[in-house]
Amino acid sequence: MMRTLEKFDGQRLAFVRADALKVSCRCGHIEQLPITHLKTRYGEAARVRNLLAQMICPECGQKRLDRAERLDLGVSTQMPGARDV
Ligand SMILES: [Zn+2]
Repeated sequence: MMRTLEKFDGQRLAFVRADALKVSCRCGHIEQLPITHLKTRYGEAARVRNLLAQMICPECGQKRLDRAERLDLGVSTQMPGARDV
């Protein structure tokens, strides 16, 4: 788990393969942020750990968001039979 997190939090948004990030604050608050939204706001080259460092938790108002997980919302699921022939 630590291994995944370390590797993942240095990734740039452009390379994050997920629909959203689940970000956790030390106060217990959890936010789900769509990748597209994050790219628009921080840029595709921004690293995950840099986002965390800039984010302010809406719950406690502090910069204590120190965990991020990839979230697959399944919205990009392809329909069966829709493959290229
Ligand atoms: Zn908080």
